[in-house]
Amino acid sequence: MKTGILLAVLGLLCNLSIAQSDFDSYFIDKSLRFDYTIAGNKDIQQIYFEQLKEEKFWGGSIKNLIDTLNRGDYRICIYSHPEGKLIYSRGYSDLFFEWQDTEEAKHMSRSYYGSAVFPFPKDNIRLEIHRRKYSNQFSLLYKQLVNPLDYSIQRTGTPDYKVHSLFQQGDPHTQVDIVILPEGYQADEMKKFKEDAARFMNYFFENEPFKTYQKKFNIYLVLAASAESGTDIPGRNQWKNTLLNSHFFTFGSDRYLTTRDVKGMRDLAACVPYDQIYVLVNSSYYGGGGIFNFYSLATSDNPESPEVFVHEFGHAFAALADEYAYEDTPVESLYNPAEENWHPNISNLVDLSLKWGSRLDSLTPVPTPIGPNNNGKIGIYEGAGYVQRGMYRPYPDCRMRSNHAERFCAICEEEIIRMIQFYTE
Ligand SMILES: [Zn+2]
Repeated sequence: MKTGILLAVLGLLCNLSIAQSDFDSYFIDKSLRFDYTIAGNKDIQQIYFEQLKEEKFWGGSIKNLIDTLNRGDYRICIYSHPEGKLIYSRGYSDLFFEWQDTEEAKHMSRSYYGSAVFPFPKDNIRLEIHRRKYSNQFSLLYKQLVNPLDYSIQRTGTPDYKVHSLFQQGDPHTQVDIVILPEGYQADEMKKFKEDAARFMNYFFENEPFKTYQKKFNIYLVLAASAESGTDIPGRNQWKNTLLNSHFFTFGSDRYLTTRDVKGMRDLAACVPYDQIYVLVNSSYYGGGGIFNFYSLATSDNPESPEVFVHEFGHAFAALADEYAYEDTPVESLYNPAEENWHPNISNLVDLSLKWGSRLDSLTPVPTPIGPNNNGKIGIYEGAGYVQRGMYRPYPDCRMRSNHAERFCAICEEEIIRMIQFYTE
């Protein structure tokens, strides 16, 4: 572990030195969506262009256009062209990057649909996608010049679905805008969808820091019906014809709920201004999924669905890692032992000053034992990020560790607040 204060100060200076660009000089108040296929195997990956699509709304900040937080497995960077000035960037993750860690990726190649949205440029731009390397640094994966007047940009408008404003507190540019999409709700179940979404919203705002920052959120629903009710549960041979083709048993995990229909999801979400997409799945099966700046999914009717709903949002909104551990996963198989990972709430102690190191006193034992003397205190608790040994978390329990936790730990709360401020300043 290294001393934290100097590095923390230097980090602050670096962030301050990144000048945000002027929205009105470079952008129009709507979105351009870059859709692509990403394909490869464990060792290689390549992006193939699918389409550019104009979208009606821009729900993001018009002030914080450059991402200063360095989160995610990828980032999209938009440069003015030919000047080459960075005018927008955003970190995100996706399902393909996770798939590359699976056994399947050692033996075959496959493709996933990907997408990134940015404010609509006034003039020519250079679009780049960067990918996080094992060394933790980003490298260029794809680049493309875009003329915003190009007639091949899809300008087909948004699908004609009814929109319901569940919770509206202000201008989308200075709010965190969540769009909740119904998955596996038939036309005659739209009332249930609205009631389910309202129930989850009420629970969401019972949790800190969302409770304190309630007025910083807008929540919209898009009322789009599925042909059948429920979702796919392949391991139980249950298949449903649903709007977004969601399914459990992602990568063989019965509780991992995802969708690969990113195009359909984005088309629906574009009916409203949004920062975060939440897919609410009409099922009582246990599980969910959350990928940073990509999407969250949770089911409606499991007894633990409310806790899962908030947990998955922690992944997708604030880049929080799971703080729980499995039995037998070696730390080296998931993390570079020479580098800190990009999640703020877990550390392998290579440089804890990048995480919560400055908050600890020098007598904090490593690992910190859980006991009556320090229960509830910040420390260096072993077991996090899916591994029992060699990865640490800041508190004994947290919403990112278990459904029984009372709340997010203080470090996760701070990261969520930091992200709320990034969107709403
Ligand atoms: Zn936490």
